[in-house]
Amino acid sequence: MDVLERAVNGETLNQAEIVSLYSLPLPELAAAAHEIRLRRTRPDIVTFLIDRNINYTNICTVACNFCAFYRTRRQADAYTLSYEEIGRKVEELMEIGGRRILMQGGVNPGLPFEWYLDLLRYLKTHYPEVRIDAFSPEEIYGLEELTGRDALDLLADLKEAGLDGLPGAGGEILVDEVRAKAAPARIRTQDWFRILDAAQRLGLYTIATMVIGFGESFEQRAEHLIGLRDQQARALEQYGHGFAGFAMWTLQTEHTRLKGKAPGATASEYLRNLAVSRLALTNIPNLQASWPSMGFKVAQAALFYGANDFGSTMLEENVVSVAAGHNRTHATVKQIVRHIADAGFTPAERDPFYNIKNYPDVAKILAEQDEEPALLPLA
Ligand code: SF4
Repeated sequence: MDVLERAVNGETLNQAEIVSLYSLPLPELAAAAHEIRLRRTRPDIVTFLIDRNINYTNICTVACNFCAFYRTRRQADAYTLSYEEIGRKVEELMEIGGRRILMQGGVNPGLPFEWYLDLLRYLKTHYPEVRIDAFSPEEIYGLEELTGRDALDLLADLKEAGLDGLPGAGGEILVDEVRAKAAPARIRTQDWFRILDAAQRLGLYTIATMVIGFGESFEQRAEHLIGLRDQQARALEQYGHGFAGFAMWTLQTEHTRLKGKAPGATASEYLRNLAVSRLALTNIPNLQASWPSMGFKVAQAALFYGANDFGSTMLEENVVSVAAGHNRTHATVKQIVRHIADAGFTPAERDPFYNIKNYPDVAKILAEQDEEPALLPLA
């Protein structure tokens, strides 16, 4: 039996087998990935989430070479939002029916740990129905350095104050050799997994992530995927839950120091890596397409390369879009619904755990006038 057949049969592939997938013809890879996706998730449905990003501060001391978002505290356009400003952004989300924020920022040593606790308490007091998925492992690592306490301890306090989840941002390629070149001060692989494991131990929501295009080898990509798969197996066995899904996108370098120094990835490389991810990640059922990095059309194609989800509206996403040099900081529900329906699937609004909340009235939404940049409410 060849490696593709074994993958379609649900067998777990080793590193050499995953690497071998990268040299297979793309249509074969796509067909296998799509077959698995149809079997593991509802075949007629493509899900999406209504949410908003809030970048509470752009001050950051990590200075990743691939980041165009961060500022030093002395730069004129450095900012930290007040609780009230963040609250107003939450209200805007609620007006269009969203009940989830994804809140991340730079590693800002000027903010004491109590600032984060008070922020969460403020948001939960004023907007108790809104779930807060916030902070990256990098930010938690920064708080470890600031306080001298460990992640498990800090996350327990943050959860108590209102934190619902720790998105798995900052994964990029979880191989130190790649990370050291792209961002010398960035959190290392072992710490990323340690902090995600602490979040999962505490029952916080997490997702697995991957960014390609740093010039990493196929072996390094396979190592990354196996690391995620192993962590998922450990979390499922020990805690009964793990990563809710997997999101993968391509490096954007337009306004960064990596411009001209890292190859990035083409649409076909993105789709190939997505299909390989579907075949390798046997224990993570939900895979997202990435419209912020690839555009809507490639994200639509991704629905035939292993993805079963169109991601989220991401109102006011800043980090990927600033590095990409475009203003596509959000998607409307209409744009998402249209691309899912045009691909032949039924659009379904979900929660962060991929539970279906609502089937939007497609005909009604598509008949609405475009209202950029506002989001359209669901039926
Ligand atoms: S990617 Fe995050 S950690 Fe790196 S410089 Fe930008 S804000 Fe800081």
